[in-house]
Amino acid sequence: MTGIPSEYIRKIIHVDMDAFYASVEQRDRPELRGKPLAVGGSRERGVVAAASYEARAFGVRSAMPSAIAYRRCPNIIFVKPDFKRYRAVSQQIREIFHRYTDLVEPLSLDEAYLDVSVNKEGISSASKIARKIREAIQAETGLNASAGISINKFLAKVASDINKPNGQKTILPEEALDFLEELPIAKFYGIGSKTAEKMKRLGIHHGKDLKSWDLALLKQEFGKAGAHYYNIVRGLQKSEVKPFRKRKSLGAERTFDKDLKGLKELEEAFDLVFETWAQRVESSELRGRTISLKLKSQNFEQITRSQSYSQPLKTTKALREAAWKLVVNEYEGQAIRLLGLSLSNFAEESKVVEQQLTLDF
Ligand SMILES: [Mg+2]
Repeated sequence: MTGIPSEYIRKIIHVDMDAFYASVEQRDRPELRGKPLAVGGSRERGVVAAASYEARAFGVRSAMPSAIAYRRCPNIIFVKPDFKRYRAVSQQIREIFHRYTDLVEPLSLDEAYLDVSVNKEGISSASKIARKIREAIQAETGLNASAGISINKFLAKVASDINKPNGQKTILPEEALDFLEELPIAKFYGIGSKTAEKMKRLGIHHGKDLKSWDLALLKQEFGKAGAHYYNIVRGLQKSEVKPFRKRKSLGAERTFDKDLKGLKELEEAFDLVFETWAQRVESSELRGRTISLKLKSQNFEQITRSQSYSQPLKTTKALREAAWKLVVNEYEGQAIRLLGLSLSNFAEESKVVEQQLTLDF
């Protein structure tokens, strides 16, 4: 007995490469092995896109401003990201996934969900498939991956973190409900630090506390997300793995600990958000025509503005100019708490390829 209706039980694997960009760099440049490494940023400015485990030991994390990373780890080596190489490795990894199933949903270059409920090899154990996939990744790319295996995407995602790096964890159907009850709120995938803080103030520390709240009350406190929390803690997630999910937009945003006042402070904040965003755009290979800006002020007034261009913005420089122009146009001197950027109106990738073919001939 699992206590969860059978239509909610699939065999889902979440595969997550360990310190992906940093590991690719250490693989390809032996002089970087064993060293604290940050991909992205520089001593003075920018954002860490990925940190090696040697750097993580000093408290360096991805999305951290490089200046803070440098302060925590003065010996850290900054390396410029090479997304072309990361994409090529990512492609190799995806080919390994497809030996087992075509139900593969990539989350980024280094993470994907797989539904192996039915699989090409007819293997009944999802844990065994995860092990074979990790072995193949190691043998064929020289890189380590971790995996989480469970009944839905949420639990698989949470599980892949447990025995990281280079490990895997299975949460069996009959263990799922107990696991969820004991799970600290901060570990719930999708509950950010702000929401986690709010939950703690409301006395919600673990899954079992969350489960004691009824649906109406959760909705009242957390809006639409309340219903999601209600279901997730009961193991009720219809975890369809969607291989062809089409992205409509690609964004990054950051809430700041203190209010930003004046254009100069805003530009420093903008740079941090911009770099994370630009890294995401570059790793995705998507090119879009519309840029949007979101600014939330101290009193939670929010403005969003968009600007569309006739051609996709192709370079990081073009993205930066367009995004900063929006900021300058919209900023009216208010104290800012949150800044977000996003890109949409993507060019059809197939069309781009077609055009290139036509030109080549
Ligand atoms: Mg990873």
